[in-house]
Amino acid sequence: QLNARKPFISGNWKLNPQTKEEALTLGNEIAAAITEDSPDVDVALFVPYVFIESTMGVVGDKLSVGAEGVCPELKGAYTGAISTSMLKSIGVQWALAGHSERRVIYGETDDYINAQCRKLIEQGMSVMLCIGESLTEFEQDLAASVCAVQLKKGLKGISAEEMSRVAIAYEPVWAIGTGRVATPEIAQKVHAQCRAILAEMYDAETADNVRILYGGSVTPESVDELMSQPDIDGALVGGASLDSAKFGRIINFK
Ligand code: PGA
Repeated sequence: QLNARKPFISGNWKLNPQTKEEALTLGNEIAAAITEDSPDVDVALFVPYVFIESTMGVVGDKLSVGAEGVCPELKGAYTGAISTSMLKSIGVQWALAGHSERRVIYGETDDYINAQCRKLIEQGMSVMLCIGESLTEFEQDLAASVCAVQLKKGLKGISAEEMSRVAIAYEPVWAIGTGRVATPEIAQKVHAQCRAILAEMYDAETADNVRILYGGSVTPESVDELMSQPDIDGALVGGASLDSAKFGRIINFK
């Protein structure tokens, strides 16, 4: 791989695990999987709000613990919301935005996702913007154009300089939680298309420096070949991030 992008393996726990004890055991085991022999890789875990601080306590500085989402408002009458400033005050650096489950189940729009991204950047934090097409869109060969729209709308108002604090996760919706991982060829093709869109939006150098992660049914069996593609810089892992042996193997990709 001829680029300078540092690999980035991340886990998305979603509405798991069920208890604090389970979260701490899992966090502890995942941190233990990062050793001197591991590749030079950034690792992040996106965990439910209630487990963020205690998980940080067990993983130390081996990996960063991020939030699965944020409210784009800083304070006020938004019952149930968690702000970027609250997260920042407990040491959170990363948050997800635009995950398909937030788009579909919670009706988060591109404008709202853009507001989340901008607020995180404004606070000096980093954001992993998730994009990806549905099965129907994939079958109609619309992956690149859906990603283009989601990138342009999601990143509106974010400067080339600020893009150093943005990572993109390409997650085809048909691959999330389905066991149907995109082939390395398909994923590489869309990643290259996303990078070309970023070059158009910004410039070639900025696009070359942005890490684009693949997400959707990544397993120990599929990670190595995915990671060997020139435009795949990491993985965003759901199901397999709940199993420390599997996620440990993904972190230690070959
Ligand atoms: P999965 O989830 O690995 O279980 O497919 C990925 C994600 O939703 O980020």
